[in-house]
Amino acid sequence: MPSDARASQSVLTIDLGAIAANYRAMRERVAPRADCAAVVKADAYGLGAVRVAPALARAGCRIFFVAQLGEAVALRSAVADADIYVLNGLLHGEEKEYRRLRLIPVLNDLGQIALWQKARNGDQKLPAAIHFDTGMSRLGLSPHEADTLAAEPQRLDGIDLRYVISHLACADETNHPLNREQLRRFAAIRARFPHSKGSFANSSGVCLGSDYHFDLVRPGCALYGINPTPEWPNPMRTVVRLDVPILQIREIDRPASVGYGATHHVTGKTRVATVAVGYADGWLRAFSNRGTAIAAGVRVPFIGRVSMDLVTLDVTSVPALHVGDMVALMDEQLDVDTVATTAGTIGYEILTGLGARYHRHYVGDPTA
Ligand SMILES: *Cc1c(COP(=O)(O)O)cnc(C)c1O
Repeated sequence: MPSDARASQSVLTIDLGAIAANYRAMRERVAPRADCAAVVKADAYGLGAVRVAPALARAGCRIFFVAQLGEAVALRSAVADADIYVLNGLLHGEEKEYRRLRLIPVLNDLGQIALWQKARNGDQKLPAAIHFDTGMSRLGLSPHEADTLAAEPQRLDGIDLRYVISHLACADETNHPLNREQLRRFAAIRARFPHSKGSFANSSGVCLGSDYHFDLVRPGCALYGINPTPEWPNPMRTVVRLDVPILQIREIDRPASVGYGATHHVTGKTRVATVAVGYADGWLRAFSNRGTAIAAGVRVPFIGRVSMDLVTLDVTSVPALHVGDMVALMDEQLDVDTVATTAGTIGYEILTGLGARYHRHYVGDPTA
């Protein structure tokens, strides 16, 4: 138990050494041709960007991507020298803040390009990336806007175009035909802006092979232990473990129901452990009556509905448990992808949903 945690508090343990090792593994896959950034949006997928980013920097990462300007502002003091790109782009009125903190916008349409061009002050070019939509229909210049930009290159005067980027829609499905199609479209865009570098692949994109790497890859989930190749065993190291304390153990010896809605019934002798985690902590209500935890090394099933602050486990098979003992909800055996599947979701949603009430305990040496 970390000394600053309360005995009744759930503990999220984050292995910074494993994050750094996962970063190095991604970098080695793309070296020496491509460089490796780290995506630390959504507070480093819920794990704490101001702790995770410096660990990645110590592992050699110099380029970070976040989604929002506010995230970039918070990150700047944690990684003073790094390049910080903001994927959601540049909105009116934000130019000053970008310049003041040397943040780099990922420009998503011709209007944003014009706005950044106007924000120039003196002769120094302003750094930017430009996002081209190659099949997501989400962010980035449309094919029509890409034609306009290529035909009117003066629109880029005063802009130091570091990267043209795009994003894969189906990279986690190796054989999805859209992967090759997006690759073809992105290669065509690169040919029109030959003086800037290209960045295309997320974690799963890295695993699609070197055709997809270009000059810079942008892994996020793999750094945090999510499997970037769901069709194969997870090549990444486990990063997160979640331990929750038992608040009460109830010995039931007659038929009874458990939890809201009386959705679970016990008929005979049963031990029920109530533990301190609920949907307010991101332990989704979809976990009601589903999945298992590990108590004293034994797999025990969740029973009853998940409530806001509590869930219940059938620990009849583990007589030695006591109030105050910790039960593991995620660890090496019970990885985030397995847990996510139980609730019909993906590891990204589980990690980014982990709430504010956990004691976040950082372990591991990012330089080891
Ligand atoms: C989130 C994101 C990434 C990282 O994706 P992962 O699947 O987590 O590796 C990369 N690029 C863009 C544009 C993103 O939005």
